[in-house]
Amino acid sequence: MFIFDSTILDRLEPDDLRVPFIHQQLQLMQEHLQVQGSDLWVEYGKPREIFAEIFAKHSIESLTCNGDYEPAAIERDLEIEKLCGKNQVKFQSFKDQVIFEKHEVMTDGKKPYTVYTPYKKKWLSQLNDQVLKSYPVENYFKNLHQTKNKKKIPDLKSMGFSTTDFADYPEMLVSQKLLKDYAKLRDFPALKATSHLGLHLRFGTLSVRELVREAQKHSEVWLSELIWREFFMQILFHFPHVVKESFRPQYEKVQWRQNDQDFQKWCQGQTGYPLVDAGMRELNAMGFMHNRVRMLTASFLTKHLLMHWSKGERYFASKLLDYDLSANNGNWQWAAGTGCDAAPYFRIFNPATQLEKFDPDHKYIQKWVPEYKTSQYAQPMVDHVEARERCLQAFKKALKGTKA
Ligand code: FAD
Repeated sequence: MFIFDSTILDRLEPDDLRVPFIHQQLQLMQEHLQVQGSDLWVEYGKPREIFAEIFAKHSIESLTCNGDYEPAAIERDLEIEKLCGKNQVKFQSFKDQVIFEKHEVMTDGKKPYTVYTPYKKKWLSQLNDQVLKSYPVENYFKNLHQTKNKKKIPDLKSMGFSTTDFADYPEMLVSQKLLKDYAKLRDFPALKATSHLGLHLRFGTLSVRELVREAQKHSEVWLSELIWREFFMQILFHFPHVVKESFRPQYEKVQWRQNDQDFQKWCQGQTGYPLVDAGMRELNAMGFMHNRVRMLTASFLTKHLLMHWSKGERYFASKLLDYDLSANNGNWQWAAGTGCDAAPYFRIFNPATQLEKFDPDHKYIQKWVPEYKTSQYAQPMVDHVEARERCLQAFKKALKGTKA
């Protein structure tokens, strides 16, 4: 069963590209289950109300789901668990989207890790074939509930979304060659040298166990990225305050700038810094941005424009197909210098140097900023040296007398 949760959907724009993706995947899943004589039951509405109605109409013994680590999802699941209790329905939740969850990777003192490298070391020391085993679901097809009348999935329009002809959803596979070259090529945004699997990991259309098995065979560096994903998930689970505030509270004292016009220039890719602009335009058009450029655009907003990380984090959340609260929040706070294990505030990316290093032939910026080097292109909205100095002063002032 799948519920299009209206509390989540109501907050999205009608042309959001993630809802059609989920819809498409559900249709495929439903077809698979119908071949087995069973079905996928899809509803639209508020989960609590839907389950209350189901429990009233049907005789249900137990409800089984997979766990989620985001504060809102934890709250929702607790509410459903309580409802189950009231209706004598057994509630069971399992681990699925990660290799290690919640309290499974802890320091020797039984505390959550807040620094990535020791977390990764412990994570790797616990990895074994057992945790990476696929579950033989095919053996259990005979246990599926057999249905006679095929169910319909609510259409996108009825839920307030436009149908889309967006054809660029990433494929659900990663080649050995890409993984073998990953360490060497992953930082060049003009190349297709990263997996683009974030969307599938986010929505559970691919198994993380399968990907970790591939990573073990072909790329230690790519495995490290999958571990970063779990690192930020456990940060969000143990420190849910990060959703609204900086991980390190002293950074809330920075006198962040408010300037909607400047923010809009950043959003639209009109800053006059071509690598920043290329990234933002890629994000707006594709719902994707290369990691190297995500780091630069986030640094530009929080350091050059001195705006609170949460503004950029919300903008990415509205656009990224692979948007994931833990990874987005963790990486934004990393880039701003306010997070756990973050880049220090005084390390400020120079957009010009980044361009020379990571897009030396200007292939990436030619694609997204074709007017670069013409009179049509925006003038730099801030001077790098001045903006850098302004940032250093603001952070220093805020952190005076505290530990950075
Ligand atoms: P690959 O390089 O092929 O990596 C494989 C997978 O590892 C990714 O799909 C992702 O699941 C995981 N991963 C890789 N890098 C990271 C990382 N630094 N932190 C956590 N997980 C990682 N990633 C998201 O999945 N969702 C987000 O909302 C998100 N927001 C970001 C915001 C900022 C400001 C920055 C700097 C990074 C963000 N990332 C986010 C991390 C990273 O940029 C993306 O995971 C990556 O670019 C996705 O492309 P890919 O699938 O080709 O990744």
